[in-house]
Amino acid sequence: MPKRLAVILGSLRPTSSPKCVFSDEHMTMYVTWLQQTCKLNVDASNAPFPNAREFNAFIRAQGPRYPQARSHCQHTRHPNDQFSKEYCPVCLFQIHTNYIKFINVAWERIGGPWKQTEADEEYAQVGRAHHFARMELANHMVQVDALAEQERAWNAQNPKVETSGAYSHSRVQEMYREWLHLTSAPETKRSPPKKVTWTDDTKEYTRRSGPDEMDWEYNA
Ligand SMILES: [Zn+2]
Ligand SMILES: [Zn+2]
Repeated sequence: MPKRLAVILGSLRPTSSPKCVFSDEHMTMYVTWLQQTCKLNVDASNAPFPNAREFNAFIRAQGPRYPQARSHCQHTRHPNDQFSKEYCPVCLFQIHTNYIKFINVAWERIGGPWKQTEADEEYAQVGRAHHFARMELANHMVQVDALAEQERAWNAQNPKVETSGAYSHSRVQEMYREWLHLTSAPETKRSPPKKVTWTDDTKEYTRRSGPDEMDWEYNA
């Protein structure tokens, strides 16, 4: 029996063609991955656009070429966390933000999000993918908020248990606030990312968010 199980694709995804964000080379890699790992009978003309977790699985399958890819992790969960299986809440959050960044790089390359006139079909497709990705993260954060609330209630009932080192949903709320701040103000994009000091992983995250590493195409 093969060790690697086929990736089952979910049903929610942008209606755009993945060609609007992938280079020709990446498109070939992506279609090969869909065919071989996901066992989909597709070609470049009808390949589905990946959602955040699928995109992560795709880049992880390319080996060390994409250090942004998250692997199943053993990061310490909060004692109340019965929900994160393969990925801790922090890694799951990074899967979403990596995906948004990837789409945004493609969008910025063709003038997004400020291009108002002469917007063509490709521009509209990447724009739809961008809005899908932001919506997917917003929906994800609704769950995170509810679980963070549970964690705080648990902390209140277990005051002697130290949970500040856990990769918790509360920590993701902090990261999200920081991320919103960094991504909503275009003028801050040119300044170096803020140093966040509370965990190694967050520093790593901040580094990965740096503008220099945003170019997936040429960093590969
Ligand atoms: Zn993790
Ligand atoms: Zn999610």
